[in-house]
Amino acid sequence: MSLASKYGDRELVKGLGIYKDMRLDAMPPEYRARFLSRPHEFFVDPFCVEGNLYFIGNREIGCYLIDSGDGLIVIDTGYEFTAGQLFNSIWMLGFDPRNIKHVFHTHNHNDHIAATNLIVKMSGARTYMSEVDGKAMVESMTAKPSMRYAAIGAPSIKFVPDVYTHDEESFTIGNTTITCYDTPGHSRGCQSFVFNVEGHDGKTYTAGIHGGLGILSLHKEFMEAEGYYSARDEFFAQLRKVVDLPVDIYLGSHTLQGNMMEKLEKRKADPNGPNPFIDPTEWKKMINTAWVQAMQLIDDEENGNTPEWQKKMYADILKQSGNSK
Ligand SMILES: [Zn+2]
Repeated sequence: MSLASKYGDRELVKGLGIYKDMRLDAMPPEYRARFLSRPHEFFVDPFCVEGNLYFIGNREIGCYLIDSGDGLIVIDTGYEFTAGQLFNSIWMLGFDPRNIKHVFHTHNHNDHIAATNLIVKMSGARTYMSEVDGKAMVESMTAKPSMRYAAIGAPSIKFVPDVYTHDEESFTIGNTTITCYDTPGHSRGCQSFVFNVEGHDGKTYTAGIHGGLGILSLHKEFMEAEGYYSARDEFFAQLRKVVDLPVDIYLGSHTLQGNMMEKLEKRKADPNGPNPFIDPTEWKKMINTAWVQAMQLIDDEENGNTPEWQKKMYADILKQSGNSK
């Protein structure tokens, strides 16, 4: 019996398939070095996903803007060094970043939160994060560095969330109601958000961003560094919990997830055709992909099949975060 199979079947959703070769682990070293040194190459012209929902991230990090009719809402803000791009994207769409009223965060990792302080300085926006991740972040401002913020560079910019969010709690802002779901495993307090989008065709769609499909945290080294030994149990349990949420529009918390760029190209090629971002199977397919990859990771580790370059990469990340032994 493989170690992974104690969590269930190899696949969570049978017959739907998975995305092969979609990266749900850490950035490969060359890619990361390039992103750091040449972030402009990762810039993506901002675009409308559907109705009042816009993409304002880059090729690596998924950040989103909602025009609620009562101020702008931002979900995840990305790295500090791409904050200029984020603001630029908002201007390019014809909005004013000074009108950002609310900022939601899927989790407390540096790559999703580091531009938030600049937004708060500019607009006084209210900030939201799960109580678990939010309190851990605030605590870490005085504690030792941690993998939680490690992905790239020092966590120089932090904030104290105005609102601590909880499982199945909803917030209505203008025309938009955002419901938070606890989806731990990637971080202890990781959340996913589901909300309504008023489509161009007059229909209402449901968009979902899953904050915690990244499997980096499930490696032994990271569970040990974080003292987060229940990461795997919680990861598989949350996938099972949210897989059947009725989501029409899947939003990648990393842009590779859900093939956001490919969908954009498809849309450009056929602007009047069906919107490729509207696909009710995508949420399930991405969750299934994460499930299968996590199972594989555990088995590879158990059987000593983790490639050397990957082990080195994990060691480097831990070293950068001050967590190496
Ligand atoms: Zn993360």
